[in-house]
Amino acid sequence: MRRLAKTFRKDDYSSFKDYQEISYDEVFVYDFSNPHTNRLVYSELSKFTKGDIFSFGGYIFPKTNTYIQISLLFDDHVVHSYSQPLNVLWNRIGFCFPCSVQYQTAKVILTINCDQLYTWGITSGTIDLEHYEILDGLSDNDICSALNLPHLMPEALYLPHDSIIIMPNPSMSSSYTSRTKEDFIPLKKCSYCQRYLPIGETIASSAFHHHKAKVTGFQNECRSCKKWRINDYFNPDRSSDKLNESSIITRERKILLREPEQIIELKDRETGEGLKSQVWKRFGKKCFNCGIPLLLKDVQLDHTRPLAYLWPIDQYATCLCSTCNNNKHDSFPIDFYQSEEKLRKLSQITGLAYDKLVQKDVCEEQLQRILANIVYFANNLDARTFRSIANKVIEVRPSVDLYKILKTTNANAYNDLMTRLNERKDS
Ligand SMILES: [Zn+2]
Ligand SMILES: [Zn+2]
Repeated sequence: MRRLAKTFRKDDYSSFKDYQEISYDEVFVYDFSNPHTNRLVYSELSKFTKGDIFSFGGYIFPKTNTYIQISLLFDDHVVHSYSQPLNVLWNRIGFCFPCSVQYQTAKVILTINCDQLYTWGITSGTIDLEHYEILDGLSDNDICSALNLPHLMPEALYLPHDSIIIMPNPSMSSSYTSRTKEDFIPLKKCSYCQRYLPIGETIASSAFHHHKAKVTGFQNECRSCKKWRINDYFNPDRSSDKLNESSIITRERKILLREPEQIIELKDRETGEGLKSQVWKRFGKKCFNCGIPLLLKDVQLDHTRPLAYLWPIDQYATCLCSTCNNNKHDSFPIDFYQSEEKLRKLSQITGLAYDKLVQKDVCEEQLQRILANIVYFANNLDARTFRSIANKVIEVRPSVDLYKILKTTNANAYNDLMTRLNERKDS
C-alpha cells in the first residue's frame, strides 16, 4: 500500500496540477513593547565575497500604515539605505547591491514605526546570474539597476523564501505561529522557479499575473520568471501580450514536458554550474554544426531530439549558434546533419547512443504521460498546442491519433477543443 501511494505522488501530472493550487504558510508575528522606532536586525547573513551581488528581501505586513527604513551595513558601516511606504497588507521589500570591496560582515536593519507586524520569507543571499540569461555581460551596477524594480521585488532576486533568516533578538517577543486564519499567507507554486510566492487579495500586488481561465485565476509562472526567463528569453523583442502562435506553443510544450524542473535538476550539484555552461564546455565552446567559436551568452541549447516530438531538454543537449539552431528548428538529427560521420561525432560528444540518436520517433515516456492525462491536457493547454502535438505524434506513429483517443475518452472535452480550434481560425 505504501509503495502505491508513493508512486501516485511522484506522478508527473499531479505536479503539473500543483501550479494551480493555493497553500497557506505560517508567518512570524512581532509584538513590540515600545511602539516607536522599532528595529529588526538581520545579522546572520550568508557569506559573500568581492564581486558578488548581495541581495535581501521578503514580505512584511504592518498592522498600521507606516514607513520602513531599510539599511545595509558592511562591517558596521551603512553602505546603502532607503525608505518606502507600507500599507496594511503584505508589502514586498528587497534590493540588491554590488560588493565592490571585500567585507567581513553584512547586516540589514529594518526600522519601522508600528507596534505589531508580520513577516514571511525574509532571506538573503548572492545573485545567481544563471537565472537571467539576458544579463550576461553587464556590469554589476547595471545588473542591480535592471533588477531593482519595486514590483518584482523580492522575486527577481531568486531567493529561497522557504529558508528564512532566523533572527536572534531577545529584546522583542516574537512567535512563529499564526494566530487566526487570516494571519496565514496565501502562496502558489511557480512552474518555472518552483518557489512558493504570495498571491491573492492580502498582498499589494500578486507575484503572478491574472489568467481568467486558470483555476486560481492566476498564471502558472511568476511575474519575475515571465520577465526574466520566458518573455525575454523566447521573445527578446516582443511584449508579453504579442506572443505569436509558435512561441505560445513552444512555451506550453516546455512546461508540459517539465523543462524548467529538468533544467534545475541538471545543474551540477557540486559546482552549481548550469546546463548551458556544461554543454558549452562539452562542445569545446563552439557551435557543433558550423564550428564558429561561441561566448556563453550566444550559446543556444538545442534539444538534439526535437521538442516538437516531445523530447524535453536533457543532458544530451547540443551546443549551437543561433543561426544553426533556427535552421535546425524541428528536424531530427538524421535529417539535419545528414553525414554519418557528423552523427557519430554528436553521439560521442553527447553520450547519446548512436541508434537512439538516428531514430525518428516521439519520446515514449512523454507520450504515455499525455495518453494517461489526455482530457486534462486537452482542457488546460492552448488548443493550438494540443493540435501541434497531435500532428507530430501521428506523423511518426500513424496508429496513435490523439484526437480520436480524446473523442473516445471524453466526447465533451473533444467537442470543446474543436470549438476552441475553430474560434482561432475565425479570428
Ligand atoms: Zn518563478
Ligand atoms: Zn552554427
